[in-house]
Amino acid sequence: MLRGLMQGLADLVYPKACLLCKKSLKGTASIDEVVCLGCWSKAKKNLPPFCTSCGRHLEKANLNKNICPACAKGKLCFDRAFSPFLYDGVIKELVRQFKYCGKMHLARTLARPMSGFIKEYGLDVDFIDYIIPVPLDRRKTREREFNQAQALSEHIGSEFNIGILADALRRNRITASQTGLEIGERFKNVEGCFSLKNEVPMANKNILLVDDVLTTGSTASEAARVLKNGGAGIVFVLTLAN
Ligand SMILES: [Zn+2]
Ligand SMILES: [Zn+2]
Repeated sequence: MLRGLMQGLADLVYPKACLLCKKSLKGTASIDEVVCLGCWSKAKKNLPPFCTSCGRHLEKANLNKNICPACAKGKLCFDRAFSPFLYDGVIKELVRQFKYCGKMHLARTLARPMSGFIKEYGLDVDFIDYIIPVPLDRRKTREREFNQAQALSEHIGSEFNIGILADALRRNRITASQTGLEIGERFKNVEGCFSLKNEVPMANKNILLVDDVLTTGSTASEAARVLKNGGAGIVFVLTLAN
């Protein structure tokens, strides 16, 4: 009763507003009381057909190969990546607020379409042994106070009843920002940046790597390479956007 009253007062003083258009959410349909339905509906979906490697939408010209020109060059070490959205518009803005503005509660809202994508396309996750969040380097974790990939993993893990190995992978060193680097430079930049904790038995384990965004795939690929060197079987990647 008292709590309800306090919440009512809080809502009066700080009415909940859409994180994107800033309009009050009072009396409007919303997603988790954080984004109005109008804004959420503008999120650009990643639509099939998908590249069977990076998971991006496949243009007509490449349909016969099932793989996009970038992946045909054969750089990626994971088996396949999946993403429900394009990294653009409202999704890009929500990821920014999630990562850099400490809005950890967005994890639930952003993890839901990731789980939804698995269900919608009937991806078989029964054979996945562990979910592993792509680790941030320690400096970044301190700045942000949480690893967004881990926060997403927790929701997805509980949805599908898959255990999470939060610290199986470690960042060895602080990598320079990937922003502004050419694709080849990005792969070089992350080389050797992860290692596997010795005590984690990885032999024949199938892994779902989770991160917020897949750009060139270089970071997820490097993580997958280390997992496979440690004996992992299949490594899939699930990100919110690509
Ligand atoms: Zn809105
Ligand atoms: Zn591709």
